[in-house]
Amino acid sequence: MLPQAAARHVAQALRMRVGEPLTLFTGSGGEYATTLARIDRRQVVTHVERHDAIERESPHAVALVQSLIAAEMMDFVVRKAVELGAAAIVPLLAARSQALPAERAERRVAHWRQVAIAACEQCGRNRVPEVRNVVAFGEWCEAPDGCAGSAILDFDARRSLAAHASAEPPHTVAVGPEGGFTPDELRYANARGAVSVHLGRRVLRAETAAIAALATLDAIAGDAR
Ligand code: SAH
Repeated sequence: MLPQAAARHVAQALRMRVGEPLTLFTGSGGEYATTLARIDRRQVVTHVERHDAIERESPHAVALVQSLIAAEMMDFVVRKAVELGAAAIVPLLAARSQALPAERAERRVAHWRQVAIAACEQCGRNRVPEVRNVVAFGEWCEAPDGCAGSAILDFDARRSLAAHASAEPPHTVAVGPEGGFTPDELRYANARGAVSVHLGRRVLRAETAAIAALATLDAIAGDAR
């Protein structure tokens, strides 16, 4: 029996019929070839034909640390990051980020997790990447899996992400908010082992920078090689 949201999607949005094939995944690897066995107003039941252990993860795991930006752009970045294979998404409260009061942060994170699931359904990813809780910049930097060894996107950096990643593909890439990272944040991260990198000669919007960075890493070290 499908969970409610998936059942609604199958019955009402996709208007599927009994007997049609449907691929399902639980989120922790592999997928199931099923056939729709029953569709009524309250439930959708499928018959599982077989499990297929297919992997759709990139060979190079990259976490996207995305500074909080305008709500609709944040949704957009989460969706695109899932499609481009990000292994985790870390919403970052940077100095110039749009403020997000703690009581709203929890709801927003829950929403991004739903966005990530929907993006997996769309792109065929069968492992749902983790969307972490919002972290403040300092907290992220100091964490054991924090900014050491990460690539931090900065228009003024001397080295390009492509050159850096060709030598040493980073496990994390961090994107600033609409107003950019502050010089203090960049210094702080650099002092803790983050490498500043650029994406070319034009100033990209934050959401474009996230997509360009993930696509660059996919092309150099991931599954778009
Ligand atoms: N007015 C801001 C622009 C920020 S663009 C400033 O001057 O910093 C938003 C974020 O996208 C930046 O913080 C950076 O992380 C990333 N970004 C945009 N264009 C970039 C580029 N050409 N190279 C590297 N990062 C870039």
